[in-house]
Amino acid sequence: MNSFEGIQAVSFDVGGTLIEPWPSVGHVYAAVAAQHGVSADPDRLNHQFALAWNAKSAFDYSRRSWSQIVSRTFDAGAPALEEMPFFDELYESFSGADVWRIHEDVLPTLEALLDRGLKLAIISNWDERLRPLLTRLKLDGYFDIITISSEIGFHKPSPVIFEEAVKKLGLPSSAVLHVGDSLEEDIHGARRAGLKAVRVDRQRRQTQTDQVNSLHDLSALIT
Ligand SMILES: [Mg+2]
Repeated sequence: MNSFEGIQAVSFDVGGTLIEPWPSVGHVYAAVAAQHGVSADPDRLNHQFALAWNAKSAFDYSRRSWSQIVSRTFDAGAPALEEMPFFDELYESFSGADVWRIHEDVLPTLEALLDRGLKLAIISNWDERLRPLLTRLKLDGYFDIITISSEIGFHKPSPVIFEEAVKKLGLPSSAVLHVGDSLEEDIHGARRAGLKAVRVDRQRRQTQTDQVNSLHDLSALIT
């Protein structure tokens, strides 16, 4: 693993990097569906969600895009939005702190980086639900800037969202280390915009350079 010199700020992806749905996407979907008299198995929903997520195209992190994922998760036939009477409730439920878990390595890492005088940022493909969610999770106070795709009009891996964050930080892009779980969106995207990048892979799915299995290993990489 390389170490990184001259880093003055660390930016983080959110979903899969700082937080994850809890107990799982399928459990949350099933709970909302049950309130509407629809019985669904959480494990099957997780499976269907993974299929829908991996098959998505032109996904732009909008409400409309999410409605298509939800429809496909509940039914491979992808019914129209009008046929998903609880979509709005499901969508809103993910702005609540109770359906998310902060990974155990996050808060100690953020504290350690702040203690070293580094600026912290968020660069996330998300929507209007993220700012209130970060506040509810008591995460917002750690970050100097929060850059969200729905506010910028471009999502990762577009260089535009990275450039926007770097500009707000007031630093050269080479002084910013981006950390995320997506190889294309976070790592390739950040590097194309001139940032440094490290992937976090807690499941140890792949062995690559510039990858950590826990955020606990991050601070030591910044020299
Ligand atoms: Mg992610």
